[in-house]
Amino acid sequence: MSDKYKDTFRVLMIDQHFPDAPYITFSRFDAADQVRRCKDAAIDSLHVTTKCHWGHSYYRTETGLMHPALKGRDMVGELVAESRRAGIEAIAYYCILFENLAARNHRDWRFITKEGKPAIRNELFGATGADSWRWDMPCFMTGYRQYCLDQIAEIAAGYEFDGLFLDIFALGSDQRINVCHCAACLARYAERGLDPHSDDPQMKFALVKHWMANWAEFLLEIKGVLRDHRPGMSVSVNGGPFYEPWSVLKELSWPYSEGGENPHNSVVLRGLGLGSPQCGIPCGNDAYDAWPPDLVKIMTSTVLAHGCRTFFFFLQGRLGDGTFEESKYDFVRRINEETAAKQEYVKDAEPLKAAAVYHSEATWMEYGSRDCRTRHAGNIQVAIDAFRAVSIPCEFLPSWRIEPADLDPFQLVVLPEQKCVSDREAEALARYVERGAPSWRPATPERSTTRRGPGRTSPWPICPAWTTRGFARSTARSTSAATCASTSMPSSESCARPITS
Ligand SMILES: [Zn+2]
Repeated sequence: MSDKYKDTFRVLMIDQHFPDAPYITFSRFDAADQVRRCKDAAIDSLHVTTKCHWGHSYYRTETGLMHPALKGRDMVGELVAESRRAGIEAIAYYCILFENLAARNHRDWRFITKEGKPAIRNELFGATGADSWRWDMPCFMTGYRQYCLDQIAEIAAGYEFDGLFLDIFALGSDQRINVCHCAACLARYAERGLDPHSDDPQMKFALVKHWMANWAEFLLEIKGVLRDHRPGMSVSVNGGPFYEPWSVLKELSWPYSEGGENPHNSVVLRGLGLGSPQCGIPCGNDAYDAWPPDLVKIMTSTVLAHGCRTFFFFLQGRLGDGTFEESKYDFVRRINEETAAKQEYVKDAEPLKAAAVYHSEATWMEYGSRDCRTRHAGNIQVAIDAFRAVSIPCEFLPSWRIEPADLDPFQLVVLPEQKCVSDREAEALARYVERGAPSWRPATPERSTTRRGPGRTSPWPICPAWTTRGFARSTARSTSAATCASTSMPSSESCARPITS
């Protein structure tokens, strides 16, 4: 197994999603020059686009359509060869769910919405004119699945890549962006007794769960293709626990998510229980106009301090002739040079453990079954930020990490509106409290510490400022976790019916 990714802290993706000429011609594209500029910018891992949101491939494919403006030139081959020469890790970027060509050329491959219409990214996500490009979406439970597997086989067999990165691989647990209504999916639901038109909470939950299992099975197939054609390639996907289920995350060589501009994202990534997390910092998109380099330096330092590798993605900057805006490389160089000096101090560093914010995957799916999984993410994120605001070390604690060794280092476990807690989870949390109840005091100017007193079971005050989203606590006398949420808050609406995983 290649483990190069464990030491690559300075990653760059030059995001490229292009229609045909005249939008771009690649007439002056120079792979050697691009990689040399990456090397000068202290980049040690480079993502190379093999297929973009438009569905264009940038290598010589027999399965898909090569970008016409390349005129047969193997952009991927050149970039991989130059990267290897420069000692830079090469990761194959491959997009799954946004794919204009596949969805437009194969009517039976389209992801179909509940309303019976082909799914379009902008409509599903409520995006407005700010992003005028729409992305058509195929369903991977159709022939599109084999199309992807065949392309990934071509990429793995044909190029000396170190890893594969799958973009737009699962989009969260919301029904409207997960539950397809194409003919193939409807037939499968009928076989399994699933009803995509039902309003029953249990059925809606079952459908979300079914799709999470579909994604996990698809990933296992992809890993099988890599094993067959280039054993040792690492694999990751774009999305943390608010996008991907644990059945997907646990199969990854390293977890990744965007969102480095919000410190809770790198806290969440390091809490997954997976090594070498990587967090995306969107400086490339916004630094021109919105964010000065120093602000991005602060974001980068925060991501690093949380033990994550740094990942920049440049969406804008590629010029029509295929060259790349020079100032962007310089921008990253200035930040990467600092990262290079700091990274040895953060690699494999263990965070201090005081408070933990619990993520129940079943709750995430239940919110998703009502198309509001972002509310679940918000509950977790605001709790982490609340602790950070008063300088109390705070970790993300997912529901797959509830062994005594996972729980015991924490002085406090908070369950912010985690309503779907299984018997096993409730028992593990109750045992945790019995082993030594946490004692917690709200942070005040006079007292801002957390302590754990063995055997203490006194009722703990909840700091009013921290109850805006509702907090939960476990007590030694209860057999399950009890929710202490303010029912007046919009985020406190209850499940229609309790559901356990
Ligand atoms: Zn489908």
